[in-house]
Amino acid sequence: MTEAPLEWLALARGTLDRLALNRRDDAWLEAAWADPRTRVVVVRDGRAAVTHEPAPALVLVPPGEAPDGDRWFLGVDGDGVAYFGASGPLPLRDGAQPAGIRRVGALLGDRDSGLLTHAVALEHWHRSNRYCPRCGTETRPAAAGHMRVCPEDESQHFPRVDPAVIMLVTDAADRILLARGPQWPPDRRSILAGFVEPGESLEQAVAREVKEEVGIPVRDVRYLGSQPWPLPQSLMLGFTAKADGDVPLTPDPEEILDAAWYTRDELREAIEDGRIVAPGPLSIAAQLIMRWYGGELPKMPDF
Ligand SMILES: [Zn+2]
Repeated sequence: MTEAPLEWLALARGTLDRLALNRRDDAWLEAAWADPRTRVVVVRDGRAAVTHEPAPALVLVPPGEAPDGDRWFLGVDGDGVAYFGASGPLPLRDGAQPAGIRRVGALLGDRDSGLLTHAVALEHWHRSNRYCPRCGTETRPAAAGHMRVCPEDESQHFPRVDPAVIMLVTDAADRILLARGPQWPPDRRSILAGFVEPGESLEQAVAREVKEEVGIPVRDVRYLGSQPWPLPQSLMLGFTAKADGDVPLTPDPEEILDAAWYTRDELREAIEDGRIVAPGPLSIAAQLIMRWYGGELPKMPDF
């Protein structure tokens, strides 16, 4: 098996230049906000207005139609158009509907997928991190929405991202390990995943999670790519790993209800028979499985 990187990741397609140095340039930000070409993506509770004609796209509004209040500078495109995010009532017009990342993250174009991913992540962070962790005072947004500052002790707080590893494990016969999580429908299967713990490397996290969840050691842990997963605040880091030896699977019943090895033929038949629903195209899991499988799976329902 080659170790080529993953080619297409739904939520890692953003095209804007974030211009992070401009986040503290108030004059530049004011001028950008006053420019009628500027566009704003409005987000509320992880959703934005999305139109589906002629193709899935975000409904972007000029600054004059954006909700009052805080705004977050997201970047500029190749034509110099600036984009901001804001929280408030969604601009539902022209048949647009509220939609979140799970529903449209893989359907939107590259620019809009990146805009939605960035804006949803910031909206959640501001909404759930309003108070200073040192003294409890309400903090204020700064750096064009990419920081919060405590007015009492001047401590600075930045958006939090939780790293999580997701790994496609193969055995000596090049079969993959698929498992079912305890909260999942009976037919759903995916590869193993888990959060990185403090004081742990990514490679150690991969080995620990596989050992905890199905009881087997792995070797040859290889990184293949990543994508943001702001549901609500993760970064998914994709790996392959090989089962070390022929140790039987012993799933931890707290985390795994079913785990088994699949050949390519077995996986295809299980999907075609409806016995297994594989991960949808939004996930890095689907891309890792397709890379091993050698192409698209028979059908890829979203979940
Ligand atoms: Zn404070």
